[in-house]
Amino acid sequence: MIPKIAQFLRDHVPATPCLVLDVDRVEENYRRLKDALPLARVYYAVKANPAAPILSRLTGLDSSFDAASWEEIEACLAAGARPDAISYGNTIKKVAAIKAAHEAGVTMFAFDSEPELLKIAKHAPGARVYCRILVENKGAEWPLSRKFGCELEMARELMVKARELGLDPYGISFHVGSQQTSTAAYEGAIARVAMLFTDLKEAGVKLRMVNLGGGYPVRYRQEVPGIDDFGTAIMGAMTRHFGNDLPEMLIEPGRFLVGDAGVVSAEVVLVSRKGKDDPVRWVYLDIGRFGGLAETEGEAIKYTFRTPHDGGSDGPVTIAGPTCDSTDTLYEKSNYRLPLALDCGDRVELLSTGAYVTSYASQAFNGFRPLAEHYI
Ligand SMILES: *Cc1c(COP(=O)(O)O)cnc(C)c1O
Repeated sequence: MIPKIAQFLRDHVPATPCLVLDVDRVEENYRRLKDALPLARVYYAVKANPAAPILSRLTGLDSSFDAASWEEIEACLAAGARPDAISYGNTIKKVAAIKAAHEAGVTMFAFDSEPELLKIAKHAPGARVYCRILVENKGAEWPLSRKFGCELEMARELMVKARELGLDPYGISFHVGSQQTSTAAYEGAIARVAMLFTDLKEAGVKLRMVNLGGGYPVRYRQEVPGIDDFGTAIMGAMTRHFGNDLPEMLIEPGRFLVGDAGVVSAEVVLVSRKGKDDPVRWVYLDIGRFGGLAETEGEAIKYTFRTPHDGGSDGPVTIAGPTCDSTDTLYEKSNYRLPLALDCGDRVELLSTGAYVTSYASQAFNGFRPLAEHYI
């Protein structure tokens, strides 16, 4: 655990459940990412953790931002971001939100369909637009499936149309899925983008930007490739496909910047068994699926636990949250083991919970207070 967070928990013993996040670690992660991909401009995916201290720190580092709603745009502006450093990256936007963003000076918008393109043309005339294409999400532990992006052929037609509508056909984006553990996913996606660049050049539209999206993984229970491996694979593919004519490169990291900067401190509410001789104990925590651990759905993201009894003998457990909803079971099939000495009232820590935890916490499902947050 980050020493500064351990110290904070010791000194303050904050009420649980809470997230403690080291903003300095976010800065370190930002710098590591810039070192790995020096030619790419960083657009932090705000949804990973929209806390003001994170947005301000990143603004100070000259980061840009990928916002998915007018509210996220407002949060970036409030943190001091310039409107031209904000990309409105959601392909599904309300007209009122497009108008508000345009009036606030945001000039970059994503789309993946004709109706959305028409909305942008009407309510943000002249905007720089980029089309999101469908790519493989193989290797992603939190895939984004087919909700976003369109086929290459459609992207080609829409970029031509964008120009006809008086928009600036700026570039192409993709997202290889979150917690992407395979560098090949980016290489495959870049190859598809390069084909589009060629096709569109023949159609007289010269694109200038590739948005490589997010996906860069953090370490949970299992080792993942380092950020340098992603940097090398991405730059290799970019030079292979674009040669000396490299377009502008954007990346939209979310998880990578904030994930390992945060720790959730929680309390064990109950340790029980379903039968006297059942070897599996049920460990109920005061945080669960609705308290922010949404990414445990399908046991997709597997957090690491720290307990006061680590090192002692352990046994198999099912880990669950505190609400009266049976989907509020975190891990049943992932072979989690916890110390036999673990008991009600013990504090446990969930490591690398800085991304997609506070932002997924429900307001007060079942009366449980939303996750408290401490930025240090
Ligand atoms: C969520 C999201 C991201 C961030 O993804 P990570 O896997 O957290 O890096 C980036 N871009 C878009 C468009 C997103 O929706």
